[in-house]
Amino acid sequence: MFDKTDNRAAKREKLKEFYLEIKNCKSCRLGELRTNFVFGSGNSNAEILLIGEAPGKNEDIQGKPFVGQAGKLLDDLLASIGFGRNDVFIANVLKCRPPQNRDPDITEINTCKGYLFKQIEIINPLIICTMGKYSTQLILETSEIISRLRGKVFEKNGKTVIPINHPAAALYTPSRTELLREDFKRLKQIYDVKSKNRGFSGDSNAENKGTESAEPADSIAKEGFEDLNDRSMQEVNVPDDKKEQLGLF
Ligand code: SF4
Repeated sequence: MFDKTDNRAAKREKLKEFYLEIKNCKSCRLGELRTNFVFGSGNSNAEILLIGEAPGKNEDIQGKPFVGQAGKLLDDLLASIGFGRNDVFIANVLKCRPPQNRDPDITEINTCKGYLFKQIEIINPLIICTMGKYSTQLILETSEIISRLRGKVFEKNGKTVIPINHPAAALYTPSRTELLREDFKRLKQIYDVKSKNRGFSGDSNAENKGTESAEPADSIAKEGFEDLNDRSMQEVNVPDDKKEQLGLF
């Protein structure tokens, strides 16, 4: 009999197998430049997946995501809503560090994004929290700027997507740190509603795979809830040439 415990173990095993499959990747030039491949870390059965941009210097040295100052801030934000690293999974759009922490380029993103998509498929979280421009634009398939997306909540491919600013961008700006704190509070409120809905339906994470997440059940989560198909997101106009650049077809 295949129960929930088996299912959780199977997901862990799948993620491990996937790591072993891709850890020596050199499909783009960053593979030659990295010290360590940074797969991501956390709970393979997490309901919340946080996605950043790319490893920085410290991440490249240690082979783990978010280990520098931005990582400390992220730990603090998670702790503020009663979560730790083992309750979530943290990954990046790119698995290898761009030199001098420059922005990822479109070729690198297009070459690497399949790995992130596979991680999403295996982990199958309820909520994807995109941190910063690159993960937000990739997951929401838009070229809209992060400042217009932050503070809103989206449904995309059966997942709830919550875009927030990248913690590194908030390190030395108290007002941005405050915004992040608000966003994490909201993330927790939405998580509480979503996980309660899942509990009512009796669906496990894997059993729910490929289906639409339940709609938020109360006003807390409905406040500011938007869908990519609704009127407000139809205003997000992605020119066709931009879509191609972003590999969104
Ligand atoms: S960044 Fe991604 S595609 Fe490029 S070498 Fe690293 S793992 Fe491979």
